[in-house]
Amino acid sequence: MRRLRKIKIVATLGPASSDYDTIRALAEAGADVFRLNMSHGSHDEIAEKHKIIRQIEEDLDHPIAILADLQGPKLRVGVFKGDSAELEEGQDFRLDLDSAEGDATRVQLPHKEIFDALEPGASLLVNDGKIRLKVKDHGKDYANCEVIVGGTISNRKGVNVPDVELPLAALSDKDRKDLEFVCKLGVDWLALSFVQRPRDVQEARDLSGGRVAILSKIEKPLAVTNFEAILEASDGIMVARGDLGVELPVQNVPPIQKRLVRKCRAVAKPVIVATQMLESMIESPMPTRAEVSDVATAIYEGADAIMLSAESAAGQYPMEAVQTMNNVAMEVEADPTYRDIINASRAGAKETVADAIVSAAREIAETTDIKAICCYSQSGTTALLVARERPEVPIIALTSRKGTARRLSLSWGMHCVMTGEVTRFKEAVINAARAARAEGFAEARDQIVVTAGVPFGQAGTTNILRVAPCEERLIYASDPE
Ligand code: PGA
Ligand code: MN
Repeated sequence: MRRLRKIKIVATLGPASSDYDTIRALAEAGADVFRLNMSHGSHDEIAEKHKIIRQIEEDLDHPIAILADLQGPKLRVGVFKGDSAELEEGQDFRLDLDSAEGDATRVQLPHKEIFDALEPGASLLVNDGKIRLKVKDHGKDYANCEVIVGGTISNRKGVNVPDVELPLAALSDKDRKDLEFVCKLGVDWLALSFVQRPRDVQEARDLSGGRVAILSKIEKPLAVTNFEAILEASDGIMVARGDLGVELPVQNVPPIQKRLVRKCRAVAKPVIVATQMLESMIESPMPTRAEVSDVATAIYEGADAIMLSAESAAGQYPMEAVQTMNNVAMEVEADPTYRDIINASRAGAKETVADAIVSAAREIAETTDIKAICCYSQSGTTALLVARERPEVPIIALTSRKGTARRLSLSWGMHCVMTGEVTRFKEAVINAARAARAEGFAEARDQIVVTAGVPFGQAGTTNILRVAPCEERLIYASDPE
């Protein structure tokens, strides 16, 4: 399961990818993280996918991260008779609270508070802004709209109301139930949709009680404004370009993406670039040139991960989509310009011992023939600092905590290996050398860099850096203690 690329691939699971064979094939083709979208599927279906992923993780003997994505206060329409309806420009279309299946004349919008807040003339954007409605008149439980831009509207498509400030809580009742459910199930990352303020993140963190790492999706104008504080409160970030490009003019998205990726890299927190990366591959086995270029851009920016949404969840070519991302990553990362860009965009290290050690580890690996940087990391903090260096050589994160290994799987360049607890530094070196050999990163004659913090078991104590051979006899010979 050794990856020959640094950037990670997040694949959303859905009807097109729900059985063992398909999900396993996606993992083998390159998916490092699976995203379970809580907006779709029952708890039973989520539990079933979770079970399959954990089984595949065991069968492949390689940690896999599971990211549960809460719907958040996202507005969605209800369901349609026959799953969809066609809307034509100029026609009337009604949104109401009636849960009966919709058709080309009406559908449910199950958010009572919205009808109160709407104004005549306000735009309602459906399905990532593909369909536009304009409110003509509204009451307590309905809104009559004119279709400004028509198209196919289908079950549970998202609705954005950029012109109106909506009185919505950060976590809906459904989100709270889903949060508790996935925390009990045991997922590694929890993604929060439509975060607006750092206290939204804190609220989820309090409810999760440390059972999961928290990733904030940046998809509201307010989240961009409050980004520093949100980043500080979160363990990771998703640039959720779908809703972001609906709530803000689309041309604002690329500069925001670049800025957010840099800020996340600077503080060593993983960042995912998401949505429409290979959109045409939902229906075609070949991506457009523009999509390939978009994937390449995120890789050149040094993002930790790129994500597939409908391409892997509901498309006809989930495997091909993962393979395409993998192929683009291999090609971009082999480009000398990629290295130049990554080096030029590296943030200066902070003035801590751990920062100095990981920075030195990278410099040693750049100067001499080193096959991997191996870091002992229980909490994962030191491993994240190594990833922040964006070194050219592989990073092997050794940990005795399964949760750490899984969580780190989202981060750039990280190859996670489970190891027993160690008490002495030499044991750490021997384990690292074994892992490097066993996972195909090095041979007996090769050298690796090992970082660790002693005494072991104390978080944030990284204070040793060792250049070590990979052969045990040589490790003993060079360090008889
Ligand atoms: P979603 O989030 O797919 O849950 O809407 C991603 C985005 O908005 O880009
Ligand atoms: Mn979204």
